Amino acid sequence: MPQPIGLFGGTFDPIHYGHLRTAFELWQLLRLAEVRFLPAGNPPHREQPLASPELRLRMVRAAVSDQPSFTVDDREMRRGGVSYSVDTLAELRAEYPDRSLCLLLGMDAFLGLPHWHRWRDLLGLAHIVVAHRPGWKAPTQGPLGEVMVDHGTGAIRELHEKTAGCIYVHAVTQLEISSTDLRQLVVAGRDPRYLVPDEVRQILLETQCYSSAQ
Ligand code: ATP
Repeated sequence: MPQPIGLFGGTFDPIHYGHLRTAFELWQLLRLAEVRFLPAGNPPHREQPLASPELRLRMVRAAVSDQPSFTVDDREMRRGGVSYSVDTLAELRAEYPDRSLCLLLGMDAFLGLPHWHRWRDLLGLAHIVVAHRPGWKAPTQGPLGEVMVDHGTGAIRELHEKTAGCIYVHAVTQLEISSTDLRQLVVAGRDPRYLVPDEVRQILLETQCYSSAQ
């Protein structure tokens, strides 16, 4: 059985080391073939991104360029309309009918899952791997508590042996960086160095893409 493909979706407005370190640790831990970054074109459940899709994509490409196991998939930007993960996973499932697919989520994103379009269908299409973030605990009650009971696993082996349907929760190094804080920092004229890769920092400084948020 080929190794699973990790799928890391996000707005990436901008991408930062919290995203990259999480993806890297999960790639190593889960023995993923690759981690595919999927920048959302028009994300539901939140305000519109400040940077254009082209610029966010450019920053994601720049951020992963030195890590061959990290790839970028711009299908959500090309598709137009609202970027529903269930549509993306259905497309990928059709392309990889027999492959394990692992949707990688931070705990904050996982806790919002019941608000996602057709969220219960996601586990029919992929596994869900949840990375702990500071201050967030795995749910034990409500709809997510129930799916944890039905789908939770502590065995990485299951993520390799099955193509979809498991939820695996794992702690990653906690880097309390958020795109929201980063945008504010850049707008305030402070230097994002060591919070984002140098290539991304250069793009931020060169384009001043968050200055309209002042
Ligand atoms: P924003 O502050 O604009 O909401 P964000 O920093 O949370 O952005 P997103 O692009 O919304 O970034 O997140 C994409 C994915 O990355 C989500 O699954 C989210 O949980 C995860 N993530 C974001 N920041 C971190 C971090 N510091 N450590 C680990 N995972 C993170």
